[in-house]
Amino acid sequence: MTYKIYKTKTILNIQKHVDGGWFWVKYSAYPYTGCEYGCEYCYSRDEKYNPHKASREPEVLKFEDPFSEYIKIKENASELLKKELKNKLRDLIYIDGYQTVETKYRYARKMLEVCLDLNFPVFLNEKSPMLIRDMDILKKINEKSYLNVGWSIITSRDDETRLAFEPKAPPVSARFKAMHQLAENKIMAGTVFMPILPFIYDDERNIEEVIKKTKDCGGQYVLDAGLTLWGYCKTHFYKALKKYDSSLIAKYDRLYENKQALGEYTVRLHQSVLKYCKKHNIMSYIPRPLKFYPEKLQINKKIAEIFYLEVRELQLSGEGGYKEWAYRKAAWSLDDLEENVWEIFKNKGIDGLMQIKGIGTSMAKQIEEFLKAGKN
Ligand code: SF4
Repeated sequence: MTYKIYKTKTILNIQKHVDGGWFWVKYSAYPYTGCEYGCEYCYSRDEKYNPHKASREPEVLKFEDPFSEYIKIKENASELLKKELKNKLRDLIYIDGYQTVETKYRYARKMLEVCLDLNFPVFLNEKSPMLIRDMDILKKINEKSYLNVGWSIITSRDDETRLAFEPKAPPVSARFKAMHQLAENKIMAGTVFMPILPFIYDDERNIEEVIKKTKDCGGQYVLDAGLTLWGYCKTHFYKALKKYDSSLIAKYDRLYENKQALGEYTVRLHQSVLKYCKKHNIMSYIPRPLKFYPEKLQINKKIAEIFYLEVRELQLSGEGGYKEWAYRKAAWSLDDLEENVWEIFKNKGIDGLMQIKGIGTSMAKQIEEFLKAGKN
C-alpha cells in the first residue's frame, strides 16, 4: 500500500440537482482518494471517477490496481471544506472516508466536525464499523440537523464468496452490529444493497436474509440496485469473477449483451426486493429529510420527493422513457422553486401551477390533489 499526502485545490462536489429517490444528496466531499477496501465490483474505479489518472501521475502505472493500492490523503480536507461549504445553501452532504487510513489521520472525523459547526446534514455510505468510535459527533449531527448511515452490504454471509469480492472490507457481521449501535442511538441507518451480483447474490434466500437482518438490526430501509458493467470496471471485475467461477463469465456476457434480457432481469430483481421489504415491514427507499430546509420550501421539497420516488420506481421497473422524464423535470422545478407552491395554488389555482417551468397538466393535477389532501 502506498500513501501520498497532498494539498487538494478543491474538495466540495456540487450536483445541479439532488440525487432524488436515492440518497437525496446535493453535495459530496472525500478526505481520501482511492479506497483500501478494493471491492472488486466498485464502480469508482471507472475512468470517469478515478482520481488516479496515469496522464497526470505516471507512477500509478506500477500498481496492478491503483485505486486500492495508492491512497491519496488530502491534508487540507477540513479547512477547505469549511471554506467551500460556509456560503452554500444548507443541503445534504455525502461523506465517506472510514477506511484504514482514517485510523491515523482522522480527516473524515474532521470533516464531520465542519458539517456539525456549519449545521449541514450528512449522509454516510460506509463499510467500516470504525465510524462508531466517532459516535459523539454522529449523535450531535443527528440532533442538530440530520444524519443517515447507509451500510454497503451485498450479502449477509461472511463466507469465501463474500471474500472473493470484498477481500479487504470489514466483515458483514461487524457492519450489521454497527448498524444496530446506530439504531440504539436513534440514528437513521439502513442497507445500501448494491450491487446485487447476478448468479451469486441474486437468489431469494440472500435477498431475504439481507433484508431481514437489516430489520433485525434496527435498519430502516434497504436500497437496492443491480451491477453496472462497463469499461475498466468490467475488465477488473471479470478478473475476480474468473478466479471465483470462470463459468460465470459466459453467463454475465449473455445477460449484459442482451438489453432486453438485462431489463427484465433488473425488474425481477427489484420486485423480489420489494416483496421481502414488504414482508419484513421495512422501507425500500430512503425518505427525503426535510426539516433542515426553510419552512416555506418544505412542501415543495415534499412533493418533489414523491415525484423523484416515482422516477426511481419507473427506472427500476423498466418503464422509463417519457413518463420518467416528466416526473424528473417536475421534481427539479419544484426543488428550484423559491415560492411556496401552496401559495401559488391558493392565489392562481391550477393555472398558476402550470406556469411553473416543467409542470404540465398531469403534474399540476397531481400537485393539486396533494395540496388539497393535505388541507383536509
Ligand atoms: S468500500 Fe466502497 S468505495 Fe471502497 S472499494 Fe468498496 S465499494 Fe468502493
